[in-house]
Amino acid sequence: MIFGKYINKYYLRYSYMILIGIIALVAVDFFQLKIPELYSIVINGINDGKVVIDNVEYIFDIQLLLDKVCIPMFIIIAILVVGRFLWRICLFGTGYKVEKDLRGRMFAHSKKLSCEFYSKNKVGNMMSLFTNDLETVQDCFGSGILTAFDALFMGGLSLYKMFRMNWLMTLLSLIPMAFMLAAGLVVGKYMTKRWDARQNAFSDLSDFAQESFSGIAVIKAFVKEFKELWAFRKLNKHNENANVSYTKMSMLLHVLVNLFIESVICIVLGYGSYLVYIGQFNAGQLMEFIGYFTAIVWPVMAITELIDMSSRGKASLKRVSEFLDSKADVADKPSAVDVDKVHGNLLFNNLSFKYPSSDYAVLQDISFEIKAGESVGIVGKTGCGKTTLADLILRCYNVEDGSILVDGKDINDITIKSLRAHCAYVPQDNFLFSDTIANNISFASDNNCLDGIKYAAELADIHGNISNFTNGYETVLGERGITVSGGQKQRISIARALMKDSDILILDDAVSAVDTDTERKILDNLKRERKGKTTILTAHRISTVKDLDKIVYLDGGRVIDVGTHDELVARCKDYGKMVALQKLEDEEGI
Ligand code: ADP
Repeated sequence: MIFGKYINKYYLRYSYMILIGIIALVAVDFFQLKIPELYSIVINGINDGKVVIDNVEYIFDIQLLLDKVCIPMFIIIAILVVGRFLWRICLFGTGYKVEKDLRGRMFAHSKKLSCEFYSKNKVGNMMSLFTNDLETVQDCFGSGILTAFDALFMGGLSLYKMFRMNWLMTLLSLIPMAFMLAAGLVVGKYMTKRWDARQNAFSDLSDFAQESFSGIAVIKAFVKEFKELWAFRKLNKHNENANVSYTKMSMLLHVLVNLFIESVICIVLGYGSYLVYIGQFNAGQLMEFIGYFTAIVWPVMAITELIDMSSRGKASLKRVSEFLDSKADVADKPSAVDVDKVHGNLLFNNLSFKYPSSDYAVLQDISFEIKAGESVGIVGKTGCGKTTLADLILRCYNVEDGSILVDGKDINDITIKSLRAHCAYVPQDNFLFSDTIANNISFASDNNCLDGIKYAAELADIHGNISNFTNGYETVLGERGITVSGGQKQRISIARALMKDSDILILDDAVSAVDTDTERKILDNLKRERKGKTTILTAHRISTVKDLDKIVYLDGGRVIDVGTHDELVARCKDYGKMVALQKLEDEEGI
């Protein structure tokens, strides 16, 4: 059985299923222990021609065999079949329900975690938590209850019956069992550690495999297949070693268990035969005793199985609990309120920002205003902080109180969900789901009518391309959208954001992969369509922001100047240099 903060409540939630399972299990155990009594009747009947049942002596004939052995045996078998079926459904079924519930809870928690969490925890590790570890917890829950109760009831009842027949022989057979339990406890501790190492090795391996599949194009382009294979082999070997190391311990436990069980059989056979020899036992009783002992073997093995299982379960539950305990570090203040409407006025007030994992401020003293309905460009060299600034508007990270105001309200006083509900975003690394183009475009919107989707696609200048695909809007994209080009991916992402028709639209370097003609068309459509609504475009290309209402020029995480294109050309030397350089590049066709 497995216990822990995140699992205890399920014993209560599914108590009715667990109870039915345990009742069925106890009934099966009880009737199973009737079988050795029937063995005794048959053997004594064959040997002596008569049998004593409940202190009454009977002649052993066909009628007695039928009444006292065959019919009861048939009834017992029927009960065993129904009972075993029932406890399997109830106990294992509960294990699967717990796995489903925990997985749902973990998935819901995963949605609350910040970008920072995902930059530290790799996808492979998360996948192994959601598959391997959860399966282990499920196994430990269902099978754990089974083994614990089976060991308790079957073991207890067998022992009681054995004691009643001969207490000395029972005590003698218990000595090796005690050793076995002690060995199980000691070995179990090592097994927990090794299972933990095994899970970590598996998670490293799946991390690597996942990255390798995602980056297959880069690997092939640089002809690094062999390097990858070599690195994979090392991790695979490490995973194998961790498995072997765990299996060695597990095998040691099983060998010890078998050793102890066989030594008990020696004791029972030796001492039991002696008792038959001196007339204290008859052959039927010895068979009955051996029957009880055979019945006790499984519960005792179950205890070691339980130790083995709980070792694995504990290690996996620890990893699952650590994940569920991980704090949603970007969360609403208790006093935060929902906003029903956003006009789109954004005020940056001495905003400085440092990533939790870095030791320097990426943005320093940022102060400027975006008025409601303005189209604003944030421009600067790569690495100057444009994406960071866009992410902060979406509250992907925590910012100081009062450093960003939305419609005059501190961004920290607004619930993250309601703030994001009023924003649409085109990230730099456009992510498309492996779904139809239509579903990708309508992803962020409540409306999924084809006309709306087509209109958004036209605004993003991708309708023509999509119409040329054999299945049009029903074309299913490959994983991460790899069946479309970089520029098409960008434009589908833009269509997705436009379909939402939000109060604030943020495009992070969203037209960098399209040619200048297409860029022009998209920007013209944006200007017309987004009239009166706040639109923010980050870019490193001047052509993207040239005609916008306002341009914020960033350098080294600081605002160097804010103004229209002409104003900046006239008064900002660095901006002027950037314009001149890009003009030269365009003329030379670089
Ligand atoms: P831009 O969009 O202007 O190219 P970014 O905002 O992406 O620039 O990055 C600004 C700086 O912040 C860079 O020096 C980058 O290395 C750093 N940075 C970006 N993301 C993270 C992160 N998650 N953790 C730490 N540093 C980061």
